[in-house]
Amino acid sequence: MSTTNDTLAKARIAVLGYGSQGRAHALNLRDSGLDVVVGLRKGGPSWEKARAEGFNVAEPAEAVKGADLVAVLTPDMVQPALYRDAIAPNIKPGAALLFAHGFNVHFGQIGPRQDVDVILVAPKGPGALVRREYEIGRGVPCIWAVHQDVSGQAEAKAKAYADGIGGGRALLIKTDFKEETETDLFGEQAVLCGGASSLVQAGFETLVEAGYQPEIAYYEVLHELKLIVDLFYEGGITRMLEFVSETAQYGDYVSGPRVIDAGVKARMKEVLKDIQDGTFAKNWIAEYQAGLPNYKQYKQADLEHPVEQVGKRLRARMPWLQAAAPQPSAEPLK
Ligand code: NDP
Ligand code: MG
Ligand code: MG
Repeated sequence: MSTTNDTLAKARIAVLGYGSQGRAHALNLRDSGLDVVVGLRKGGPSWEKARAEGFNVAEPAEAVKGADLVAVLTPDMVQPALYRDAIAPNIKPGAALLFAHGFNVHFGQIGPRQDVDVILVAPKGPGALVRREYEIGRGVPCIWAVHQDVSGQAEAKAKAYADGIGGGRALLIKTDFKEETETDLFGEQAVLCGGASSLVQAGFETLVEAGYQPEIAYYEVLHELKLIVDLFYEGGITRMLEFVSETAQYGDYVSGPRVIDAGVKARMKEVLKDIQDGTFAKNWIAEYQAGLPNYKQYKQADLEHPVEQVGKRLRARMPWLQAAAPQPSAEPLK
């Protein structure tokens, strides 16, 4: 399959990491006819997997040598050391350094060499979906950005890469590293991961503390959330309103704003400010470097929440949730 521009037609692409995004990008780029080498730590769990799927696999430093484009698709927190040890000493002048999230460049954890292009291509979906959509001839929308353009080709390279992973078949939206980083962090903190899980926990606690059965509370505030989110996903709030009863709609209109009130929005603005001024990044980097003491505690509290205990029992009785393969939507959000 050819891409809409041939900027990368003769390029060697090093994909560092073979996890959610890395595997999907490597497979899609290869199927688009591009030359891909996968960079991984020898002996790590991904090494054999990438080999078994037919890739030329090398240690990151070796993969970077001679590559015209280096896609950094490892977890964000390992990227600064990977950049320092494997990429900076080996990347060719004029090559492109590509990220799928702007965190490290935007917050100054990676100061890319002045003689390389620095670009971003971030699919708006988990890797499994990026691969699945590509395989059926479609693609997942991508946002793209240029941070540094030394070759005069940075934009063309970003677009060619996005085409190569299938994004060009759907939609490409131009952004910059600051916008991608800040909106990604805000979305996951305020609404998607943080907001939604706290909303579910508070709703569950409210019902259980009022004496209702935890099993019924679980269905009302967690299980059925999927039905609502699926309607949002397919047709926005409009579609949800078309599908729920008049009683549910009236309750939405009068009670939703009582729960998610102006105070919530004011606190969302505080969360956004901490992201924008670097407070969140500074705290997260310090937490990671300290060995994740608070992170582990917070996670344990979430895992032990009563909604998790009851959920485990109930899900065991719903066979359609026991499918062997995880669905793309079940992947962690990064
Ligand atoms: P993963 O957590 O899935 O990456 C794991 C992969 O990285 C494994 O192959 C692992 O190898 C490899 N790896 C870990 N440490 C190293 C290292 N030191 N050197 C070489 N390889 C290493 O990452 P994601 O795909 O989730 O995220 C990659 C990037 O994409 C991030 O910047 C993220 O923010 C961004 N992103 C992610 C999205 C998502 O849906 N997940 C969506 C959009 C952007 P091994 O198994 O051998 O340890
Ligand atoms: Mg939470
Ligand atoms: Mg993220």
